[in-house]
Amino acid sequence: MGATLIVGMLCVHLLCFGAMFLLISTRLHGRKMGMEVFAIGNFLLGCAYVLQLAGGAPGWNAMSVVNHTLTLCAPAVYAVGAMRFFGRAAPLWRPLLTLAVAYTAAQVVAQWTLGTAARYAMLAGASALLFAAMTATVIQGARSFAKDLRVEMVLFAALIGGIFALNAMKFVFILQNGLEALDMDSRFQTVFYLYMSFLATVLAPSIIWLVLRRLTDELRATAAHDPLTRLLNRRGLLDGLQAHLRSRKAGPAHLLIVDIDHFKRINDTHGHQVGDTVLCHVADLLRDTARQGDLTCRLGGEEFVVICLDTDAEGALRLASRARTAIENSDVAAATAPGSPIRCTVTIGISADFAAPQELDRALQEADAALYRGKHAGRNRVEASDAAAQAGSAMESALHAARAAH
Ligand code: GH3
Ligand code: MG
Ligand code: MG
Repeated sequence: MGATLIVGMLCVHLLCFGAMFLLISTRLHGRKMGMEVFAIGNFLLGCAYVLQLAGGAPGWNAMSVVNHTLTLCAPAVYAVGAMRFFGRAAPLWRPLLTLAVAYTAAQVVAQWTLGTAARYAMLAGASALLFAAMTATVIQGARSFAKDLRVEMVLFAALIGGIFALNAMKFVFILQNGLEALDMDSRFQTVFYLYMSFLATVLAPSIIWLVLRRLTDELRATAAHDPLTRLLNRRGLLDGLQAHLRSRKAGPAHLLIVDIDHFKRINDTHGHQVGDTVLCHVADLLRDTARQGDLTCRLGGEEFVVICLDTDAEGALRLASRARTAIENSDVAAATAPGSPIRCTVTIGISADFAAPQELDRALQEADAALYRGKHAGRNRVEASDAAAQAGSAMESALHAARAAH
């Protein structure tokens, strides 16, 4: 009676959470993160348990055959759902139908050749193998494709490992005691279904938590980046700067404003689409020239900002000169203007050093003033702010050297 009641509750859990997965998947346009597949898994398993309750004692009948096929297909469906969650384009219906037909045929063969107990043992054995493979995949995932979800993956591996162990035990018990091992009043069956019920309660909210985590991470990343160039936007820049300057060991930062020269002409001559390609090209070069950890941002229009972290004035100047030269010397490959490579130049203004996020506006103004001077002096050059230039004669002489080279 105890186990039957638990199976009844299990059905309710599975079907309700299945409906919830389905509702969530309808809200996720485009990438559904496997939620619609998890819903199908829950419905299959829920239906299997309904059939088990309706079918009564173990035996050879159509209801039991369908129940076994659904019970085995459900974990396979969850595996497909998990693959989709991790962005793999795993097919569902064809492999699922193949598995269902193959397993139904295997049941008929097992029943005719070895009898009813063998058919039940086969289900426990096949489920144990399936869950063992899933546990191994989840453990492997924690080390590779799901490193960011390591804690969750370890928890999943432990939970799925539990179903593997229980199915393996059931397999052995059926081999030892035949259909007696499936007595719903036995202690083993009560523990088995209590664990399944516990899983259905714990796993479903965990899956919802994973989807929520992914969504909020993606949303945060989208809010912090410029959609055209994939560089940080102003908000992402401020977040990154705050995160860096919070560290006690953080050294001073310098800010570079990079503005494409005569960009309006590029737009007017080649069209807006080529203009966009030029923006992406400059963004890529800035990202490549910056050191790892520096913050690269598209401030808006054809203006970019690079914040060089833990750098002195000379380091910032070297980076600016490298970026200017790289941009001046590289062709923009625009698909819309084949055969006529486009080149552009940039003017760069550098701020004095700063060490607090509140000083960002001041640094922007200083770099902007330097940029303005650079534009007036003829463009395609690096200009340091007055404060930065006064900061050291080394910087001043380096600046002269850079101008002379240009
Ligand atoms: P200067 O050398 O003085 O910087 O001249 P400029 O032509 O680069 O500067 P100006 O501010 O006159 O022109 C900037 C142009 O950038 C005008 C605007 O249409 C264009 N622009 C702004 N945002 C985008 C964009 O996202 N894509 C494209 N293709 N053009 C943009
Ligand atoms: Mg410009
Ligand atoms: Mg501009």
